[in-house]
Amino acid sequence: MEKIFEGDIEFFPEKCPGGCSTCVEICPANAIYLPSTKPAGQMKGEVEATIAVNKDLCILCGACVNACPGEDIIRLHRTGVRITGKETDLFNKIKEKLFTPRTSRVKEDTPGEVQLKMMEKA
Ligand code: SF4
Ligand code: SF4
Repeated sequence: MEKIFEGDIEFFPEKCPGGCSTCVEICPANAIYLPSTKPAGQMKGEVEATIAVNKDLCILCGACVNACPGEDIIRLHRTGVRITGKETDLFNKIKEKLFTPRTSRVKEDTPGEVQLKMMEKA
């Protein structure tokens, strides 16, 4: 199945505060999950990851970036969108927002590159 957005999302869960699972709760695609906890005796000095992500399921909706309380823990960068029909004036107004890289709790976003992709008509 083709996704609406193209791009990438990065997580830095080593910076997550303990006990937070906001992104797990909010993700509409179930792309974020809590990894299984190893028994303490098997950790051998490792730090258990707070969350794990299946990027194949991620639809780049941005809900986790908006909800995450941590600083620069999630970074989202959309590079393309599949749309049907012509670009409308309204879409042209919002496309810079759609393609602006986002990171959790940091507001100084920089404009992103826009790459529109037209969806093939069935
Ligand atoms: S961008 Fe959306 S779909 Fe992707 S991990 Fe975040 S909440 Fe889930
Ligand atoms: S919402 Fe942010 S801080 Fe909380 S678990 Fe997810 S990535 Fe970590």
